[in-house]
Amino acid sequence: MAKKKPDLFDLDLMPKLGEEMETLFGWLSRFKLTRESHSYQKVSKSQEQSGSNLYNEDSSSIIASPTQRAVRRTQKEIKSIKDEYQGTQKGLGPISPEILWQTIRTKYSNVRELAFDRLPSDAMAFYRLFHYPPFDQWGIYLMIEPLVKYHHRLEQIGCRTGLFSAEILMHLVIFEVFHHEFFHHIAESTATTIEIICAAMGNPKPIYLEYKSRQHERRIEYPHHPLEEALANAYAWNSLSFISRVKAGYKTAIVSFYQKAVENHWPHEPPGYRDAIYYINRNHIPGAAHFLAQLIGKSTVAEDMPLVKLAQSVMPNGFSAFMKKPDIPTWLVGSEKTIEYFHKLVPAPNEAYTQLFWPYDTAPIDQYLQKKIKEEKERINRTVKK
Ligand SMILES: [Zn+2]
Repeated sequence: MAKKKPDLFDLDLMPKLGEEMETLFGWLSRFKLTRESHSYQKVSKSQEQSGSNLYNEDSSSIIASPTQRAVRRTQKEIKSIKDEYQGTQKGLGPISPEILWQTIRTKYSNVRELAFDRLPSDAMAFYRLFHYPPFDQWGIYLMIEPLVKYHHRLEQIGCRTGLFSAEILMHLVIFEVFHHEFFHHIAESTATTIEIICAAMGNPKPIYLEYKSRQHERRIEYPHHPLEEALANAYAWNSLSFISRVKAGYKTAIVSFYQKAVENHWPHEPPGYRDAIYYINRNHIPGAAHFLAQLIGKSTVAEDMPLVKLAQSVMPNGFSAFMKKPDIPTWLVGSEKTIEYFHKLVPAPNEAYTQLFWPYDTAPIDQYLQKKIKEEKERINRTVKK
């Protein structure tokens, strides 16, 4: 009988510590790289609160009232949601294809004037670090009540333009806010990567806790401090560009309008947040290099250190996150009534904040736009030939 080929277990080469997050948490704790923090989750109905005082970098004062985890829908569920909207105008409210086309033709001149009185992402959501146990509470918290209030304000401006519907706006907001918070997870994953390597080399160091202390005590001298917030805003903006690379149509157009409105508002946001403009497109790479420098205790990249190479191809970027977007624990926080209202606007939250999925049938608008673009191209060609 043929002998079984020995595997890594037989050869005693299978690492004892596996890849589960729980294993990592246990290790971080044993190496004293975490700092115990109080619980945010109060599952009591009487705790419903508006969340209006949530804008706090440390997030330590937040008490999250009833929470619901946003989980991925099955293929079957997505199909049935789509079927419900197929061939209808549902969710598209006041959107006018003609205004949309005019806006594209005039290079967004009417969008440039669109003054969205925005709230910074961290006023509507926060990322709970796994460096601040209890570990079972780490993840992204979307505060639905402030989100809905904010959305009401945007709706009044956005829907008048004939470009957005209430539903589409909520999808854009939730996508942007989630991506801002997800960047904080990328940042924490990066710090943890460095911690594991330092410890494996026999020099354990609380990289992340020390970085956080330097940040709070303002010992980081950087013109766009806190840089992590600028990068988080820029990451959300860049993620929108990534979505809009699909073929021309309603989504592509509306994403660039929304990005313009976001850019318009940045100068009014708090320090750091307001400097995102410096880090959009490929400039997130030098920004990320300075961020790496800040994690290891410097304020900027030293002249003779090629951290930019790391920032470009290793971390911090979406691929270096320990958890993928659809799987990161994400909690919808708010009263049952508010969450129900939110679900009416966003029938598939997980797919909405990760991929900007919406079930609304924009096919007729897409076709109208494609026809107009084709006509315009032909018109330009004729003019050129003359
Ligand atoms: Zn933030």
